[in-house]
Amino acid sequence: MEKMDILTYLLKNNGYSKWECVSIDKVKSMSGDMLDLYSKNDVHEKQKSSIAGSITAIERLSGTPKKYTSVLIVALPRGTGDARSIGGINVKNALEEVGFAAKLYTSLPIKRLAVLSGLAEYGKNNVTSVRGIGSWVQYTVFLTDMPFNDSNWREKPVMATECEDCNICMEACPKGAITKERFLFYREKCKGCNTECYWSCPLNIRS
Ligand code: SF4
Ligand code: SF4
Repeated sequence: MEKMDILTYLLKNNGYSKWECVSIDKVKSMSGDMLDLYSKNDVHEKQKSSIAGSITAIERLSGTPKKYTSVLIVALPRGTGDARSIGGINVKNALEEVGFAAKLYTSLPIKRLAVLSGLAEYGKNNVTSVRGIGSWVQYTVFLTDMPFNDSNWREKPVMATECEDCNICMEACPKGAITKERFLFYREKCKGCNTECYWSCPLNIRS
């Protein structure tokens, strides 16, 4: 069996059927998208500091060993326990078992990467969802040398088509943090609620 077939088998056997592996160069190119976001006038200072941290993490990729040529992002369905740490170990073991390099890399802007890689889409509520899993999902990212495929890469983030005619989360939000006009929600307004925008969203379970 080919290495990729074995890896696919090992990942699926652990319940991980959704991932994208993109070139490290594509991930490095995310700094342009993040700089555009940073320079928007209506982005709150708190968001700016988290965006600046993400830009630094992307820039650090230039200093990683040359053996890492790709970035794997795996969607881990949340279940019992800590999906990220359990999934992280399982996925790392699977990569190494078939002879690929594997280094957990957690500091990238993970949701943005999930969307740009083609794995996920944003909802109006700023939550991402993956087809076949929904939004009850956690992502884990690895530097690796497994073969990449950039054909699903997006230069800009996209919103789920289900959001086009839906305002459920906007109406559920008691703080006015979600609006029609803005792709980003207003992080500074988001507080003091039981994540109504999340629980009311039909993308929780997505086929
Ligand atoms: S509630 Fe509707 S508009 Fe909001 S994220 Fe979910 S699908 Fe999109
Ligand atoms: S978590 Fe609550 S306050 Fe924040 S955007 Fe969602 S509904 Fe609004």
